[in-house]
Amino acid sequence: MRSKDTHPQTLLTTLGHAPPEYGGVVNMPPHRASTILFSTLAEFDRAERGEIKRATYGRYGTASYDALASALTALEGADHTLLFSSGVAAITTGLLAFLGNGDHALIPDNVYGPVRRLAAHELKRMGIEISYYDPSVGAGIEALIRPNTRLVYVESPGSLTMEMQDIPAIAQAAHAKGCVLFADNTWATPLYCKPFELGIDVSMHSATKYIAGHSDIIMGTLSCKREHFSALSRVFRNFGATPSADDCYLALRGLRTLSSRLSAQSQTALELAKWLQKTPYVNRVLYPALSGDPGHALWQKTLTGAASLFSIIIKPCSREALASMLNGMNYFKMGFSWGGFESLIIPFAPASVRTTTEWAEEGQCLRLHVGLEHINDLKRDLEEGFIRLSQE
Ligand SMILES: *Cc1c(COP(=O)(O)O)cnc(C)c1O
Repeated sequence: MRSKDTHPQTLLTTLGHAPPEYGGVVNMPPHRASTILFSTLAEFDRAERGEIKRATYGRYGTASYDALASALTALEGADHTLLFSSGVAAITTGLLAFLGNGDHALIPDNVYGPVRRLAAHELKRMGIEISYYDPSVGAGIEALIRPNTRLVYVESPGSLTMEMQDIPAIAQAAHAKGCVLFADNTWATPLYCKPFELGIDVSMHSATKYIAGHSDIIMGTLSCKREHFSALSRVFRNFGATPSADDCYLALRGLRTLSSRLSAQSQTALELAKWLQKTPYVNRVLYPALSGDPGHALWQKTLTGAASLFSIIIKPCSREALASMLNGMNYFKMGFSWGGFESLIIPFAPASVRTTTEWAEEGQCLRLHVGLEHINDLKRDLEEGFIRLSQE
């Protein structure tokens, strides 16, 4: 039925899907389970030896887990996918699978903020050394790789400031020195990035974002080829941060509409970004899908689409003026996370978090997530916000 020519949009409707196996109902009912029974001692013994395919204990996953993991494996072009109770648990597992006392890893200076805290406290305590590199480094990463560097981390575009990375060039240098290439692919989603074709070894997603898509669950994923599975799977099993069957059910339901949501939201985002470039309130729009963006060529080279998440730099303003804008928004509400059906906005200040690169740009930064609302309402919401801001 399914062939390798099947379009990903169609795959989303069929992956992890086998109605005859559960009485014909369209969606697999959630398999809530801690205990899963064995019918014979022989079956129990085989389970202890890791020889049976089905779920054996809730912490190692359930049939709901397997359905979602198998769907993501197919979308990513991977051999295996592991699921976690958060994106950060997936990142932690991905790093601890390859790093130990005395090892070194390279992380981009615009990395998702909580990763910096994980590194500064937990990884440091374990004797793992991290250095932060300029995300525009490209093939120049080679000079930063030390004899004890085991892992290179990429996030493209990077959190908040949206710089693209030359992943194929970084992959080549990392592999030449025997390093694993770990990628946070949350922005690109499994639809817009083919990680293993770019040379990525471990592809991570915060499924909290577009995969779940409705701002109601926290989940992370790691996909890999066969060679890295045993290292990752060991940490997954020992770490114990498995998602619940109900969350797997919801994430799989989110996946069914991922393609339509993403393309609608991205289309609105691009139109809005172009409009913002022309308004007098905005100094710069940071969005690699825009043709004038410094990352546009790399975006075209490495990804096949854009998320509806981008940032803008507006003129410097007082905190009171910013409050007047943000407190009165009708649709762009303030909140962490993104990838849901609703628009969001948050202020941020890159200069305060960077350690390797300078952020010299003047002006207030804002990150926008564009939801499924109509563009006219979103434009009006922003325009009225800018007017409130400039009247302070
Ligand atoms: C949200 C996010 C994460 C962390 O995911 P959680 O599910 O919130 O733990 C990691 N990377 C990026 C880029 C994110 O936006």
